[in-house]
Amino acid sequence: HEAGDGASQVLLAHPDLDKEWRERLILAGDLRAAIDMRALQVHVQPQLDLRSGKICSMEALARWRHPLHGDVSPARFIGLAEKTGLIRPLTYAILDGVCELAARHAAAGLLLPIAVNVSTRNLHDPQFVARVKELLDHWPLPRNCLHLELTETAVMDDPVRSLKVLQELHALGLPIYLDDFGTGYSSMTYLRELPLSGLKIDRAFTIGLAQPQTRQIVQAMIDLGHALGLKVVAEGTEDEATLAILADMGCDIAQGYGIARPMPNAEIAAWIARWPGRRMPGTSNGDASP
Ligand code: C2E
Ligand code: MG
Ligand code: MG
Ligand code: MG
Repeated sequence: HEAGDGASQVLLAHPDLDKEWRERLILAGDLRAAIDMRALQVHVQPQLDLRSGKICSMEALARWRHPLHGDVSPARFIGLAEKTGLIRPLTYAILDGVCELAARHAAAGLLLPIAVNVSTRNLHDPQFVARVKELLDHWPLPRNCLHLELTETAVMDDPVRSLKVLQELHALGLPIYLDDFGTGYSSMTYLRELPLSGLKIDRAFTIGLAQPQTRQIVQAMIDLGHALGLKVVAEGTEDEATLAILADMGCDIAQGYGIARPMPNAEIAAWIARWPGRRMPGTSNGDASP
């Protein structure tokens, strides 16, 4: 069900088409224009190494400011892009922006990896791996400078195909993280077979850490990740107490409003330069490098 432009015109003229659908078609057209005009923005959110207290990486998050409606939430426009096929050009646009940012950072001596979110539809795109390789060949960057995040649901949607594509991406040297871990249905078999570098524990668990049961589940996820040789990232860390609990539980990396909100990509280098380091409970700060 790709929404071709001609089809949208016909559908828009149809009197029975309800208002919500009409609005979504128009929004999809606007999104296509925004992608074509390179009007999508890349914001980035830093990720904190809980052992060293240093910023070790960042996640790129797509932002769209609609000329009439203002900021559209990613939940809305990513979902729309996935339904209409626009997720392909959208992901390429974000990947482009991220490589450009990483190259700018590298030129300034900042060599932190940037994670990009990838959808199932991207894995189904026969050109995806080749396009990623082209990008990596084009930009003078170490390959591990780009991380990919895939949601657990996306991977488990078609595990056999995902496995094949992820192996190809892994062969290019890209670390791959399983996003929103704990909210989908991962088979333990695939967890072992997928060429993963890390797990990102979903915010739904992080915000519940005050409850003993949630804490036990999160500990089990951290231990599982470590048993598989993976880095464990907690998303949605909103306060100091949560950071301290996670560090104590052996979680490797944290990301959340308690460290910083996603910010325009032009601001991140200066933000990191100002980051004072953070002494985590029970650890010695300052020796490990990112
Ligand atoms: P995600 O990959 O799990 O990204 C984390 C989301 O949690 C982001 O929302 C981020 O702003 C938000 N967040 C981070 N820290 C906190 C916190 O402490 N508290 C709370 N309440 N929220 C926090 P955002 O930017 O709205 O993105 C939502 C989702 O949209 C992302 O979830 C990701 O699945 C998707 N998305 C965003 N950008 C892209 C993209 O370029 N491509 C694809 N395929 N998906 C994207
Ligand atoms: Mg993500
Ligand atoms: Mg996530
Ligand atoms: Mg999430």
